[in-house]
Amino acid sequence: MNELPNLYDLALPDIERMLGEWGQPAYRARQLYRQLYVNLADSPTAMTDLPVALRERLATETRMGVLELARLQTADEGLTRKALFRLPDGAVVESVLMVYPDRATVCVSTQAGCAMGCVFCATGRMGLLRNLSPGEIVEQVLWAARDLRTIEPRTKNREPKDRVSVLGSRFSVLTNVVFMGMGEPFANYDRWWRSVERLHDPEGFNMGARNMTVSTVGLAPGIHRLAGESLPINLAISLHAPDDALRSEMMPVNRRYPIAALLDATREYIARTNRRVSFEYVLLQGKNDDPAQAAALAKLLRGILCHVNLIPWNPVPGAPLGRSERARVLRFQQELQAGGIPCTVRVERGVAIAAACGQLAGAPVGAPLTIEP
Ligand code: SAH
Ligand code: SF4
Repeated sequence: MNELPNLYDLALPDIERMLGEWGQPAYRARQLYRQLYVNLADSPTAMTDLPVALRERLATETRMGVLELARLQTADEGLTRKALFRLPDGAVVESVLMVYPDRATVCVSTQAGCAMGCVFCATGRMGLLRNLSPGEIVEQVLWAARDLRTIEPRTKNREPKDRVSVLGSRFSVLTNVVFMGMGEPFANYDRWWRSVERLHDPEGFNMGARNMTVSTVGLAPGIHRLAGESLPINLAISLHAPDDALRSEMMPVNRRYPIAALLDATREYIARTNRRVSFEYVLLQGKNDDPAQAAALAKLLRGILCHVNLIPWNPVPGAPLGRSERARVLRFQQELQAGGIPCTVRVERGVAIAAACGQLAGAPVGAPLTIEP
């Protein structure tokens, strides 16, 4: 394995230290940092404001990222893009870029695999390989920001009606980051948080805290920690069931942090931050999608500053589960709303290329529509 330092794993003070040891003037560190996170340079060669000798030293003594793009699949007319990255140790992770008329969002992984074992999730079925480093998380976002720039020429060939919606957007700028790919962010809290700080840094990538969202399976200690952080990123909590028996069956983590503990942590989070949380609820036909369960959920969440995001289950090979029919999804939504809980149904992207929520497993599942180098 290549042991050279990964530049994306270095915070600005680390870069200052390294370049100081190399005898470089102090201002070079900021120049390099801006090349990495503002110019999105893809190699030291592209950093034309740095002296040639320094570029060469960077090229031989550091690595600019470790993700190797092994496959890119696209769907939704090129506006959903799933990347499969191979890491130097052979682990694989996936990221999904979704372009909308008014925004562009990347969904990134925080671990290779996941130890939480939720029965409905493709990542959960593969187990945990390892945690990702801050640089490995950040690099997925940089990939998306660069990849976005490549979309424009192709969309110009689209039908006029689509052209209006797409070309009228800010789609060449990455506007949102969601930590909802492979892995449980709070099981890799320190490294994940360093990636959040790096992406937020106004001197660097400058992603607004309000434009970042983390989703957790419900690790209560992580919710407590997030409440104490200075950056107000958004919090989504995977709930998926209105009672402990069913939730434990679907999500083993519920035995450690049952619903009451999870909601206590959530209430404390809201009290400390004044921020609304989202609850995610995957709808499985005949399992958790009964109107009576919606009523129970509404009762459970009453008084909590929240919003519920319903996600019709996306198929995972080998999982003996079914996706709720449309009518049941709408009925569930109505019942929740009648119970006073704001609620939306998540718009789906990339199901055909297994790029939708819970389908990321780093293996070629689903039909590859477009395979690019
Ligand atoms: N580990 C975190 C974040 C990654 S999963 C978490 O569990 O919250 C992101 C969301 O997709 C979670 O709400 C998860 O429960 C949901 N999900 C998992 N498998 C799914 C599937 N097959 N279909 C739809 N949503 C799924
Ligand atoms: Fe892990 Fe989230 Fe999948 Fe559960 S739903 S197995 S926590 S990635």
